[in-house]
Amino acid sequence: MDAAGFAAYAREQIRAADVILARHRGRVGVCSCGRLLPCSAAASVAGRRRHFVDRLGQVEASTVLGSARVGGPLEGEIVPTSRGQPCRYGAIAT
Ligand SMILES: [Zn+2]
Repeated sequence: MDAAGFAAYAREQIRAADVILARHRGRVGVCSCGRLLPCSAAASVAGRRRHFVDRLGQVEASTVLGSARVGGPLEGEIVPTSRGQPCRYGAIAT
């Protein structure tokens, strides 16, 4: 999966987590899903959401240079990849 694909996937996961978390609004002592607080279901979804927020931040930080310009990278220019390893654009035959 490339950086753009992962970013779209991560955003989708975060959105899905938000939908689930909306059903787990804690009231005093009891979650709105019926579990006692702290709600284990909400905690696991919140942890997953946090994971994707972190990963999305890393992906966006590594791709901001490439995506902020019009026209894409120039031939022979070093661009960041999804693995964080620089590579020469155009060096890989497609
Ligand atoms: Zn809950």
